[in-house]
Amino acid sequence: MKGAGILNSKEFYTVRGYEILDKKNELLSHSMEDYMEMIYRCAIEEGYIRINMLAELLNIKAPSATKMVQKLGQLGLVQYEKYGIVKLTAEGEKIGRALLARHHIIEEFLQNLDVEENLLMNVEMIEHNVNANALRKIELLNLFFAEHPDILVKLQEYRAKFV
Ligand code: CA
Repeated sequence: MKGAGILNSKEFYTVRGYEILDKKNELLSHSMEDYMEMIYRCAIEEGYIRINMLAELLNIKAPSATKMVQKLGQLGLVQYEKYGIVKLTAEGEKIGRALLARHHIIEEFLQNLDVEENLLMNVEMIEHNVNANALRKIELLNLFFAEHPDILVKLQEYRAKFV
């Protein structure tokens, strides 16, 4: 599961167990989800991420990032160690993986719909507001289009009539 190619891996599109996100729904704010997704993105490569780097990537001041990481620590999702080192717990890794998969699924869905403008901003807005059931169905639609590219072409042609 390590290596630079991982963010492009199709594996992310077919991760099971989004239900974990529904269970955590009451516990995690949107902002906490963003943290967990980013920690996962980085920690899965290196095994850890430093708090300063995390703050920089999320465009947040280090003391705010520290506070949030401490909260995530209390929830048992990360370990905050000396020298600003943040590691995922096994539970945190599961959640992080599901959050990143969710991000990729919504991104692919919007790409299939030919949303180009502000693609990532749209992904960031939508991802926090789908439950596991809806996400699974969106993923199946993505898979359907991937398996039937001719239908995706028909959709593109149809769309072209309206632009
Ligand atoms: Ca995201």
